[in-house]
Amino acid sequence: MTAPAWARDLLAAVCVDAGITPPGLLWRSRAGEHSTGLTRRHEGTVAVRAGSDPLDQRLTLLHEAAHWLAPLERRRRGRAVHHGRAFYAIAFDLYRRHGLAEADALRLESARYRSSLRHAVALAIPGADAALAEHRAAARARPRRTWRVLVPEHAVRLERDGRWTVCATCRQRVVGSNLARMRRARRAVRHVLMTAS
Ligand SMILES: [Zn+2]
Ligand SMILES: [Zn+2]
Repeated sequence: MTAPAWARDLLAAVCVDAGITPPGLLWRSRAGEHSTGLTRRHEGTVAVRAGSDPLDQRLTLLHEAAHWLAPLERRRRGRAVHHGRAFYAIAFDLYRRHGLAEADALRLESARYRSSLRHAVALAIPGADAALAEHRAAARARPRRTWRVLVPEHAVRLERDGRWTVCATCRQRVVGSNLARMRRARRAVRHVLMTAS
């Protein structure tokens, strides 16, 4: 499916402004309102799966364009940060310059990445303070699970229980990488069994 003309033009304009070569643009549609996007730097492509909401399509394309423009931020352990401050400085600037109202940009971006609001506040995006306060109030209003200790902290002693390996003390199943880690450990690993109510 070829990308619509507006999308090709928009991506080209963003890249001309930034003085960089535009990526190839792959376009597909998906069911539902929201769009998703993926930037593959090494392949030189931006792929969009376009939902039905035109505003969200536009924001998604600009979000991916921001990835194309943004240098990768790295944390100390070398892990790439995809949605950090530098990324959002570029993204919110693109949203503003290419026709998204601040309120729409904040709403659509925070629907996918809640952390974007924190960055938007730091970047002094108009309305970000209020949007963040609203998000926090909504989060507070949600009923919270309370956790309590079911079995206090103890050393894990592995034991077979049919197909499973369990902790002999609390009978919790131990699987996958956790199991491998516990088998490797020189000293017994300790854990607590919690329960939510
Ligand atoms: Zn992204
Ligand atoms: Zn246990």
